[in-house]
Amino acid sequence: LTKPGMPFETTEIEIDGVSHTVFAHQPPSLREVFMLFLGHGDKEFIVYDGERYTFKDAVSRASQFAQALVDDFGVKKGDRIALSMRNYPEWPIAYMGIIAAGGVAVVMNAWWTEEEVDWGIKDCGAKVAVVDGERARRFLALEGAADMKIIVARDPAPEAANVSQMADAMKGKQPLAWPSVDLGPDDLAMIMYTSGSSGFPKGALSTHRAVVSLIMNWICIALSLKMLGRTNPDPDFQPVMLVAVPFFHITGLLPVLFVSATVGRKIVMMYKWDVEDAFKLIEKEGVTTFTGVPTMSYEMAASPLREKYDLSTLVDIGGGGAARPPEHVKLIKKSFPNANPGIGYGLTETNSLTAVLSADEYVERPTSTGKPTPPLIHVRIVDPATGKEMPTGEPGEVCIKSVTNIREYWNNPEATARAFKNGWFHSGDVGYLDEEGYLYIVDRLKDIIIRGGENISSLEIEGVLHAHEAVDDVMVFSLPDERLGELVGAVVSVNRDISEEELKAEVAKHLAGFKVPEKIWISHDPLPLIASGKIDRKGIRETYRGLWAAA
Ligand code: AMP
Repeated sequence: LTKPGMPFETTEIEIDGVSHTVFAHQPPSLREVFMLFLGHGDKEFIVYDGERYTFKDAVSRASQFAQALVDDFGVKKGDRIALSMRNYPEWPIAYMGIIAAGGVAVVMNAWWTEEEVDWGIKDCGAKVAVVDGERARRFLALEGAADMKIIVARDPAPEAANVSQMADAMKGKQPLAWPSVDLGPDDLAMIMYTSGSSGFPKGALSTHRAVVSLIMNWICIALSLKMLGRTNPDPDFQPVMLVAVPFFHITGLLPVLFVSATVGRKIVMMYKWDVEDAFKLIEKEGVTTFTGVPTMSYEMAASPLREKYDLSTLVDIGGGGAARPPEHVKLIKKSFPNANPGIGYGLTETNSLTAVLSADEYVERPTSTGKPTPPLIHVRIVDPATGKEMPTGEPGEVCIKSVTNIREYWNNPEATARAFKNGWFHSGDVGYLDEEGYLYIVDRLKDIIIRGGENISSLEIEGVLHAHEAVDDVMVFSLPDERLGELVGAVVSVNRDISEEELKAEVAKHLAGFKVPEKIWISHDPLPLIASGKIDRKGIRETYRGLWAAA
C-alpha cells in the first residue's frame, strides 16, 4: 500500500440512483482495513504517557473487545454503541472492537454536558456505551442511561449494577479471533455528531464504503504529495505523528488515526494540548508529522520555547478544520524552515478531506485550501439561490459529490433533504475554484462559529439564553480572534438587572464549556430590527464586532 505508483484503479457504481467514482479494489469493510494494520505487526503504533502498544497489541485487544461485546453484552449487527472518552489508547481499541462486532460506533464529543449526552443517547438509541471514568459519572447521572450497559475504560468503574470494566470484559478472550459477523460496504459503520446551524447536533451516518474509501483516497493523495512524513527511503524508517486533535473529530479519526495505522505510522498521543509538551514529545519521539487545528500550529510557530528543543525531525505541519490565515503560514515557514505547512478543507459530512494544499503549493496560493482530492471527490460551486453552477472564479456554495460522503443524517430526513440534492452535498461554505482548479473558501452561508476547530451552533446557544426568564431577545455571533480564529459573542435584551457572569453560568449549565460565550453584552432596550421585523443580524454583528475590536 505504501509503495508509490501502486495503481489505484477506479470504476463507476450507482448508489441510490447516483453514479459515483470508487476504487475498483478496496477492502469491503473497516474490519479488513484493521487486518492491514497487522501487516506492521510488532512496530510501535500508539505511544501515550509512557505506555507503548504495537500494531499487533492494539488489533489483538480490539478483537478481544469485539468478542466481549458480542458474547457478553449481546451486541448484534447494526446496534448503535456510544463511544465517549477523551484520547486514551482505549479509544481506538474500543472503536475497532465496536466495528468488528458489527456495531455502529456512535462517536460523541467528550466535552458534552449531561444534558447533551442525554439528548445524544436518546437520539441514537444506544444500549451500550464505552466511556472513561469522567464520562461514566456523566452517563450514570442520567435517567435514560439506567437500562444501558456501561463499559468503563482505564479509570476505576463507579459501583453500579449496569457498569463493567473494559479490561475485565476482555479477559480470557482469544486474541485475533473475530466474532463471525458479515460486514459489507453498504453496512453502517458510524454516527458522528456535528453541530450545524440548526440547533441540536446532527448525527452524520457513514457506511463502511464511505469510511474505507476516504482512508484509501487520502493515502493515494498523500503519497502523490509526499505528505506521509517519509524522510528516509529506508523501508524500516517509521514516520511518527503527534496527535493533538480528538479522535471524536473526523480529522482525528480518519486522516490521523486510521490513515496512520494503514501506512504504519506511529502515533504519539497527548492528554491535553500544551505547546511545550508538544515540543518535548517531538524531540523525544522524533516526530515527523504534526496535525492539529490552525490554532495549534500557530502557537508552535509563535512560541519562543521552540529554541529549547530539537525539532529538526518535523517535516509536515498539517492543519484543517478552520481557515489558516496566510500570516500563519508565513510564520510557520519562518519558525520551521525544514517543515512544510499543508492545509486541508473538509467537513464531518465529507468524512474529512475534500481538498488539500501541499507544501509546494502554498507559496503561490497561501489563501487556497488546495485542489479537491482526486480521484473520488468531485466539487462544484453553485448559486445558492438558483442551484446553477457558477462560472470559474466566481464564489458560490461549495457542493461535493463523493462516495466518501456520509449517507445521511441519522433520524433526520428533513436535514438530509436540505443538505443532499441528487447526490451532491451542499456544504454551507462559500468558495470559488480558480482556473487551475484550486479551491478558495471565502465565507459561510451557515450560522456556525468555529472556535479553535470546534463547530458551534449559534442557534443552540440562543436557545439556552432565550429560555432564561430575564432574557427577552438574544443574538449569538462570532468575534474574530487571532489565536482561536473565532470566539463566541452574544447580545441579550433583558427585562431586569442581571450580570454577564450569571448568563455565562446559565450557558455552562446546559452546554459544553467551549460553547460558553467569551463576551455577552447586556442591553435594556429591544434588539434592533430590520423592516421585515426580524432581528438586524448584520447590523448587530458589525456593531458588536466594532466594540470588541475597540475594547
Ligand atoms: P467540521 O464538520 O467540524 O469538520 O467543520 C467543517 C467546517 O469547518 C467547514 O464547513 C468549514 O466551514 C470549516 N473549515 C474546515 N476546513 C477549513 C479550511 N481549510 N478553511 C476554511 N474553513 C474550513
